[in-house]
Parts: sequence; C-alpha cells; structure tokens
Amino acid sequence: MFSFYLVLILLGLIIGSFLNVLIYRIPRGESIVLPPSHCPNCNHRLGVFDLFPVLSYIWLRGRCRYCKTPISWRYPLVELITAVFTVLCWIRFGLTVDGAMALVLTYALIVIAFIDLDHRLIPNVLTLPMIVIGLLFRIWQGEMIAGILGGLIGGGILLAITFFYPKGMGMGDVKFLAMAGVFLGWERALFVLFSGSFLGVLVIAPLMLLRKIDRKTAFPFGPFLVVGSLIALYWEEIVFKIYGLYGL
Ligand SMILES: [Zn+2]
Repeated sequence: MFSFYLVLILLGLIIGSFLNVLIYRIPRGESIVLPPSHCPNCNHRLGVFDLFPVLSYIWLRGRCRYCKTPISWRYPLVELITAVFTVLCWIRFGLTVDGAMALVLTYALIVIAFIDLDHRLIPNVLTLPMIVIGLLFRIWQGEMIAGILGGLIGGGILLAITFFYPKGMGMGDVKFLAMAGVFLGWERALFVLFSGSFLGVLVIAPLMLLRKIDRKTAFPFGPFLVVGSLIALYWEEIVFKIYGLYGL
C-alpha cells in the first residue's frame, strides 16, 4: 500500500511538471510538445535531471544549471499541489467515472488558476474544450441534463452579472463558471461563485486597506473561483452544510 501511494505521488509530480509547461506555453501561444523544455533565460535545452519534479529544484538550489538564473519556486509548488490532489482524488473517488472526471477537472483548474494569476486571462482553449469534455463525462455518468443545466445556470448567472456590472468580471470568468457548472452541477456552481467572491473580498479588502492596491488595480478572479471549485469538488459536505444553514 505504501509503495502504491509512492507511485501515485510520483505520477502526480510528473503530471504537475507537465502542467507547468501548459501554464507557461498556452498563454504565449506556444506548442505544448515542441520544442523540448528549455531554460527561458539562456534557452539551454533541459535534460531529465533538470526536469525531475521538485528534487531537481532542490539539488540545483533553485537555479538553472547552465546560466545560474534563479528558477521560480512556483514550479515545484505546482508539482506538489498536483501530487497532493492526485492522491486526494484517489482517496475520495477511487477508480470510478467520478474519479476520472474529478481528476481532469482538477488538472484544468490548476492550470487556469496560475495562467489567470500571471496574465489576468482564462484562455478559451482551456474552458471551451473542457465544457465539451465535461458534457461527455456527464453523458457517461447518465447525468447529461444535470450537466447542461449546470453549464447554463453557472454561465448564465455570471453573464447576467457582467451585463449589469461589466467592469467586475470578464467573459473568461463566465466560460469558467459554465465549465464548473457542467462538471459540478448548478448547486455547486452557485457555491463556486459565492465562495469565490467571498474569498476574493477576504484577500482584496486588506490589500486595499494597506494601500497595496487601489480600486483601479485589475485583480484576477479566476484563482478564487478555482479554490471555490476545489472545495465544491473535494469537500462537498461543506457546500451542503452551508446550504442547510440557509434552509435552501
Ligand atoms: Zn538557463
């Protein structure tokens, strides 16, 4: 059992390292497969020992082997987060359709959170195919109607909000919530919106008070929606407890 989890963690780390590639290349419009990984500073091609998740970062002391430029600590962080959620997904869902669906959504969420953090952008090349993939999973589950309804209500409610308050959110957020709705159903999609907004205010308000940012600063809403989605996906009980509290 111990070795099984070790393999699972290793697999999660390797997938995390691939998610790093997606986070870097998708917003730059670069190909996902070619060219092979290279240092963004000196362009030196990276070998297996430079790319080995987390450990290479530690043994290279966070610097490029060739030009000594510091490597962002975000790379091992993304790898670790991916590994943790891969294990969590196995524990929560096991080898089931729900598990496969949760895993695909989780990986997409991680990529979206970091791209939005860097570029204030949730790319269509992620959300649109994910809406289709989500619907296919829902059909496989025999829950097609719930998936469609979730997508329409999730995307629709945020579309209505952007209509009245255009500066608040972008169309990327609308498509994101449609995607979340397809995967999670409309009840949890609403939770994603409310918890995301709540977490957003919780982080943004102190930053405004400390005058680190002002009202004009654009801040990404995506990472908060991602955290809300992960809670809705892995800790469903919390969602229904909160709904129970308000008698919904
Ligand atoms: Zn380099």
